[in-house]
Amino acid sequence: MKISQRAINTAPSPTLAITSKAKAMKAEGIDVISFGAGEPDFDTPQNVKDAACKALAAGFTKYTPSSGTVELKKAICAKLKRDNGLDYVPAQIIASNGAKHSIYNAVLTLCDPGDEVIIPTPYWVSYPEMVKLADGISVYVQTNESTGFKMTPEMLKAAITPKTRILIFNSPSNPTGAVYSGDEIAEIAKIAVANNIYVISDEIYEKIIYDGNKHVSIASLGDDIKKLAITVNGLSKSHSMTGWRVGYIAAEQEIVGGMTRIQDNTTSNPVSFVQVGAEEALNGPQDTVEKMRIAFDERRKVIVDGLNAIPGIVCPNPGGAFYVFPNISALIGKKCDGKTIIDAESFADYLLTGDAKVAVIPGNGFGAPQNIRLSYATSMDNIKKGIERISAAVAKLED
Ligand code: PMP
Ligand code: GLU
Repeated sequence: MKISQRAINTAPSPTLAITSKAKAMKAEGIDVISFGAGEPDFDTPQNVKDAACKALAAGFTKYTPSSGTVELKKAICAKLKRDNGLDYVPAQIIASNGAKHSIYNAVLTLCDPGDEVIIPTPYWVSYPEMVKLADGISVYVQTNESTGFKMTPEMLKAAITPKTRILIFNSPSNPTGAVYSGDEIAEIAKIAVANNIYVISDEIYEKIIYDGNKHVSIASLGDDIKKLAITVNGLSKSHSMTGWRVGYIAAEQEIVGGMTRIQDNTTSNPVSFVQVGAEEALNGPQDTVEKMRIAFDERRKVIVDGLNAIPGIVCPNPGGAFYVFPNISALIGKKCDGKTIIDAESFADYLLTGDAKVAVIPGNGFGAPQNIRLSYATSMDNIKKGIERISAAVAKLED
């Protein structure tokens, strides 16, 4: 059998793969604690479910405009104005099947073969794969704990070449939880404008932010950067709607036009009645968003302290999202049952398939092979049990 080089060269999503493996082990009756899934463990708010059910019952089940209904686009414009101080009209909005789909469409619309796309590292696993699918070239800007996993203006400048076309920017970040300040984002905007680089700004974790940090949309920092900014958001994280598959983008009309033509010929519209649920999520009461944020914040403290109490694990305190990204380099070279920990992948495998039965995502897929990612979008009980198991597993490692 022959399949395309494109398919062969596309890596599976490790976040999805490990989450499914943990689910399959659970289905076999194995007592697995999963820190894998990057999805809130709360139910979708009832008002959102009710709105979608009502639309479904009323027969709102046909094609809509491929870029989304006008009503949903108006709700998105109102949200962007209210939360982000951004003025967009519906013609500058496109709704897609999840923010992942939105970002892919944006990359396909802006990237020609051979164009360079700057990706601060650690990065969300799917960005490099999307660039590869568009025949672009990923240029990685390696960051580490010393700058709080943030790219400095100097690092960004050093990565720019005449072929640079796009920066994929993600704050709050998956996997590190890093949150850039307004001043830091303004520096990045200045460099993007000076070099005429598009900024795909993935703001999916905007609502999950701690310690009084403020989310700033790069597009809100002036007319010049707004022209280059592609603001990405969605409802998966803020409203616990991962399975609904709805995300959106706001950008210059020409960019949205290009994305719409791609969407017209590939997927058509996001699910009709899901769009009505999304409209309610954006226009309706927002109290559940804040309730979830507070719960994540409480869990954050417990998981950070718990991990830092384990010798060999160093866990920075994240400013946003629901991930911790501890460094495990002190454990590399240690052994258990004849197996040696050579990197995050082998450590994650040891935790999942050894006695601990704990699922974590190795940092390798995020461009950080000495770190592991744990999602604390799981119950406090699971967090406490999971930490105990990781602690016991680390205690068993020998030099
Ligand atoms: N961006 C980031 C940084 C993510 O972690 C995710 C994963 N949920 C997405 C985009 C895509 O989200 P969705 O497709 O569920 O809207
Ligand atoms: N984005 C989530 C994560 O990083 C969900 C999985 C995925 O879409 O890759 O875990």
